[in-house]
Amino acid sequence: SGESKDYKYLILGGGNAAGYAARALVAKGVGKSEAAIVSREEVAPYERPALSKAFLFADPPARLPGFHTCVGGGGDRQEPEWYEDNGVDLILNEEIVSADLGDKKLTSKAGTEFGFDKLVIATGCSPIVLSKLEGADLKGIHYLRENADALQLYDSLHARKGEDVLVIGGGYIGMEVAAAASIVGCKPKLIFPDSHMMSRLFSPSMADKYESFYKEKGIEFYKNGYRCEGFVGDEDGNLSGVKVSLDGKEEVIPGKACIVGVGARPNSRLFTDQLEMELGGIKVDGQFQSSVKDVYAVGDIAAFPLKIYDRTTRMEHVAHARQSAAHAVDAMFDDSTPDYDYLPYFYSRVFNLSWQFFGDSVGEPVVVGDIQPKMSVFWIKDGQVNGVFTESPSAEDTEVMAVIARERPSVDVAKLSALTDPDEALKL
Ligand code: FAD
Repeated sequence: SGESKDYKYLILGGGNAAGYAARALVAKGVGKSEAAIVSREEVAPYERPALSKAFLFADPPARLPGFHTCVGGGGDRQEPEWYEDNGVDLILNEEIVSADLGDKKLTSKAGTEFGFDKLVIATGCSPIVLSKLEGADLKGIHYLRENADALQLYDSLHARKGEDVLVIGGGYIGMEVAAAASIVGCKPKLIFPDSHMMSRLFSPSMADKYESFYKEKGIEFYKNGYRCEGFVGDEDGNLSGVKVSLDGKEEVIPGKACIVGVGARPNSRLFTDQLEMELGGIKVDGQFQSSVKDVYAVGDIAAFPLKIYDRTTRMEHVAHARQSAAHAVDAMFDDSTPDYDYLPYFYSRVFNLSWQFFGDSVGEPVVVGDIQPKMSVFWIKDGQVNGVFTESPSAEDTEVMAVIARERPSVDVAKLSALTDPDEALKL
């Protein structure tokens, strides 16, 4: 303790955005030990989306170093040697516990001080933990954010083949982990209070198609009012079930493994008193500058101007993590870098399905086709397409969808609604 290190460029956090920020800094030609990553994780930055997918079910499973950044964005696989070779100090297992932005200094739990000229905050999010519920400390309850969590979840699922596995939450994590658990051979039960899964994006009729697909795979649903009220366990402290309620009536759904995916919160605690905040994240401008000079924020933590829709937003998605990191570094080196102009893009892969979405899910969704073999959905407001979704898109569809979402063309809704072939609809 008491050690101190100074960097010209300091990246706080070692996740998806950090890996891409390091790549961008190296491309700018930073000198040896001018830049550093400080991360509390024990591994170099990686493509986090892998953790709820091939990491859990593939045979052999995806493991590091296979998915270090920037393989997902078509770049080098940055193993620790890459950082060494490129002169970026990769400081792992180091949690920052205090920040003094006026003094341009961060301090770690171990007592090391990190000084900086320019700081990139890329601390991401942490899962919302149901810590206040009865039985919250029982063994067998999982959350999923980091490599270490995924390793434990993998062991847990693979030890429970043929057994019930309880999945709490009907969003991305719930949907993907339930699919992974099913592929592994477990019997997943998906529990969430919303009327349908992926309720922030999917319309009821879209969700219905995915839910039917899941049911055919043997996945059971406890939805539409089902709330998780607590966890029950045995005398050894192991989970034996989840207590749920529906309309005030309680029941216990048995299961020895449970994964909770009920959302995430930005890791902003260190900065709430020193930076302007919005939407729970750090408010930045179109160059990812926070309210304090030389302090930038990127990835999940950044509340940024979403130019295309003229509003401030936070995006918990990997495409934004990658692009925001690169953009912030550009802006650091060049004041005349244009404002970030991001087109929202989401995707997910479950079983042999995979979907992509571009744009804004406002307006009335018009569904064309079915999830097998292919389906597109168009969100239409005032005759214009705002958002477009395709299940099982081709590479060409992906390009077309991005153009549609950007240009927001007018369409004949009656004509579109009458179509049954997504390929025709995407051409309208
Ligand atoms: P993170 O990748 O979370 O990185 C934050 C880093 O900061 C971590 O290394 C953390 O340990 C570190 N950190 C935080 N606080 C401190 C501190 N005080 N001191 C030191 N280090 C600290 N997005 C998609 O678009 N598609 C997907 O299919 C998809 N799947 C996902 C599956 C899972 C299981 C998860 C968890 C997320 C998924 N996402 C997906 C979201 C995507 O991974 C995130 O948007 C992305 O990781 C954000 O990058 P980030 O760098 O902002 O945050």
